[in-house]
Amino acid sequence: MRHLRKIIRSIFLSINMPLYDFKCEKGHIVERLVDNSIHQVNCPECTNQAFRIISSINFSLDPISGDFPKATKNWAKWRQVKIAEERKTG
Ligand SMILES: [Zn+2]
Repeated sequence: MRHLRKIIRSIFLSINMPLYDFKCEKGHIVERLVDNSIHQVNCPECTNQAFRIISSINFSLDPISGDFPKATKNWAKWRQVKIAEERKTG
Protein backbone atom coordinates (compact mmCIF):
# COMPACT_ATOMS: atom_id res chain seq x y z
CA MET A 1 0.00 0.00 0.00
CA ARG A 2 2.78 2.42 0.81
CA HIS A 3 4.34 1.85 -2.56
CA LEU A 4 1.04 2.45 -4.27
CA ARG A 5 0.59 5.71 -2.43
CA LYS A 6 4.02 6.84 -3.46
CA ILE A 7 3.24 6.08 -7.09
CA ILE A 8 -0.11 7.81 -6.94
CA ARG A 9 1.47 10.80 -5.30
CA SER A 10 4.10 11.13 -7.99
CA ILE A 11 1.42 10.87 -10.68
CA PHE A 12 -0.55 13.69 -9.17
CA LEU A 13 2.46 15.83 -8.52
CA SER A 14 3.41 15.54 -12.16
CA ILE A 15 0.06 16.81 -13.44
CA ASN A 16 -2.22 19.68 -12.63
CA MET A 17 -4.26 19.42 -9.49
CA PRO A 18 -7.78 18.11 -10.11
CA LEU A 19 -9.25 21.18 -8.54
CA TYR A 20 -12.66 22.37 -9.64
CA ASP A 21 -14.67 25.47 -8.92
CA PHE A 22 -18.30 25.18 -7.97
CA LYS A 23 -20.78 28.01 -7.76
CA CYS A 24 -24.05 28.00 -5.87
CA GLU A 25 -27.13 30.02 -6.73
CA LYS A 26 -26.15 32.64 -4.19
CA GLY A 27 -22.83 33.13 -5.91
CA HIS A 28 -20.52 31.47 -3.45
CA ILE A 29 -17.49 29.93 -5.07
CA VAL A 30 -16.42 26.60 -3.69
CA GLU A 31 -13.13 25.05 -4.63
CA ARG A 32 -13.04 21.31 -4.37
CA LEU A 33 -10.63 18.56 -5.18
CA VAL A 34 -13.04 16.06 -6.65
CA ASP A 35 -13.45 13.27 -9.11
CA ASN A 36 -14.21 14.39 -12.63
CA SER A 37 -17.63 12.70 -12.46
CA ILE A 38 -18.78 15.00 -9.69
CA HIS A 39 -20.64 17.97 -11.09
CA GLN A 40 -22.24 19.37 -7.98
CA VAL A 41 -21.47 19.73 -4.30
CA ASN A 42 -23.21 21.31 -1.36
CA CYS A 43 -22.17 24.87 -0.73
CA PRO A 44 -20.58 25.11 2.72
CA GLU A 45 -21.81 28.70 3.07
CA CYS A 46 -25.51 28.32 2.43
CA THR A 47 -25.94 24.54 1.93
CA ASN A 48 -27.49 25.09 -1.51
CA GLN A 49 -26.26 22.96 -4.35
CA ALA A 50 -23.22 24.38 -6.06
CA PHE A 51 -22.59 23.42 -9.66
CA ARG A 52 -19.29 22.98 -11.34
CA ILE A 53 -18.09 25.89 -13.41
CA ILE A 54 -15.29 26.10 -15.90
CA SER A 55 -12.15 26.60 -13.96
CA SER A 56 -9.27 28.76 -15.02
CA ILE A 57 -7.15 25.69 -14.68
CA ASN A 58 -6.78 23.78 -17.90
CA PHE A 59 -6.12 20.09 -17.88
CA SER A 60 -3.75 18.83 -20.46
CA LEU A 61 -4.12 15.43 -18.87
CA ASP A 62 -7.32 14.04 -17.49
CA PRO A 63 -6.61 10.93 -15.46
CA ILE A 64 -9.75 11.43 -13.41
CA SER A 65 -12.25 10.42 -16.03
CA GLY A 66 -10.15 7.85 -17.74
CA ASP A 67 -7.41 5.59 -16.62
CA PHE A 68 -7.10 6.12 -12.90
CA PRO A 69 -10.48 6.59 -11.25
CA LYS A 70 -9.51 4.29 -8.41
CA ALA A 71 -6.12 5.87 -8.01
CA THR A 72 -7.83 9.22 -7.76
CA LYS A 73 -10.04 8.05 -4.95
CA ASN A 74 -7.13 6.52 -3.11
CA TRP A 75 -5.12 9.65 -3.58
CA ALA A 76 -7.94 11.83 -2.29
CA LYS A 77 -8.16 9.61 0.77
CA TRP A 78 -4.42 9.76 1.21
CA ARG A 79 -4.49 13.52 0.97
CA GLN A 80 -7.16 13.83 3.64
CA VAL A 81 -5.08 11.67 5.95
CA LYS A 82 -2.07 13.79 5.18
CA ILE A 83 -3.92 17.01 5.94
CA ALA A 84 -5.18 15.57 9.21
CA GLU A 85 -1.64 14.59 10.12
CA GLU A 86 -0.35 18.04 9.33
CA ARG A 87 -3.04 19.64 11.44
CA LYS A 88 -2.16 17.35 14.31
CA THR A 89 1.53 18.11 14.24
CA GLY A 90 0.86 21.76 13.51
ZN1 LIG B 1 -23.71 29.29 -1.26
